[in-house]
Amino acid sequence: MKCGFVSIVGRPNAGKSTLLNSILGLKLAITSDVSGTTRDVIQGIYNDSDSQIIFVDTPGIHKPVHKLDSIMNKRSYDNIEGVDVILFLVDASSKFGKGDEFVLNRIKDSNTPVFLILNKVDKVKDKTKLLHDISELSKKYNFSEIIPLSALKNKLNDLIETIKKYLPQMDKIYSDEDLTNVTTRFIVGEFVREKVLELTHDEIPHTVTCLTEDYKEDEDKIYIRVLIIVDRENIKKIIIGKQGKMLKQIGTYARKDIEAFLGKKVFLDTVVKVVDNWRDKQNILSEFGFNDE
Ligand code: GDP
Ligand code: MG
Repeated sequence: MKCGFVSIVGRPNAGKSTLLNSILGLKLAITSDVSGTTRDVIQGIYNDSDSQIIFVDTPGIHKPVHKLDSIMNKRSYDNIEGVDVILFLVDASSKFGKGDEFVLNRIKDSNTPVFLILNKVDKVKDKTKLLHDISELSKKYNFSEIIPLSALKNKLNDLIETIKKYLPQMDKIYSDEDLTNVTTRFIVGEFVREKVLELTHDEIPHTVTCLTEDYKEDEDKIYIRVLIIVDRENIKKIIIGKQGKMLKQIGTYARKDIEAFLGKKVFLDTVVKVVDNWRDKQNILSEFGFNDE
């Protein structure tokens, strides 16, 4: 049995969430056209008959803009240490830019094998240029592997098999039982967060965390309560909306997705809570099993 940790890094919009979703075969991390929507470190877990691969999606490492961002960035760098493989994603259909360079500089110092993944090759019509880009990029760092692919269009079995070569021989870390429990709750929270971001558009920063507080199942329905954590009172106001209209809409849309996903009638309750300091947020996250410090 091969088992280990893989970190996915790359500038916002490189396709990290898409890659993760594609590997896991379900909508786990949020994908979006909005840059940097994946704010929390996510562990998606891939299982097959001879391996378990634990993926860590990172909040697209980018230059810190404000204080909370720099904490977020620190968290994602922390995840680079102690993993077995780093997948460094770049968008092959656009120029290797400052954002890519920034991420690469962050991972250069680690002793971890780095795969250069040239994503979105389906968008690259000129294959000669692709080959040229590959040879240029290969000079930037001693990458363990260089793999062109399309996270959106390709089957990723080859990538999985290549990753396995770099993983230690060891027993599964998570039992199959652990997984179903954690991920269902997690996915439910992500559905709600996706609707929050979609419906409020650019009015709120992407620092919203949604946690499934309560999950009770009976014969014909599931009762779910999701806590929406924001860091400022005015963001809470936007999410709730005039006479609670926005929150109601978020709940309705999220419930439909969750029902489709779980295949059962869902009663969804949502609560918005302001947590304005990092320590409290960490405590809440660890209560919910997201203890990554
Ligand atoms: P992240 O910010 O790195 O997590 O990027 P996302 O996974 O959210 O992807 C950003 C955008 O790129 C989305 O609109 C995706 O649909 C798109 N995208 C990701 N991978 C591919 C790909 O292989 N081909 C194409 N054509 N689009 C992709
Ligand atoms: Mg993402």
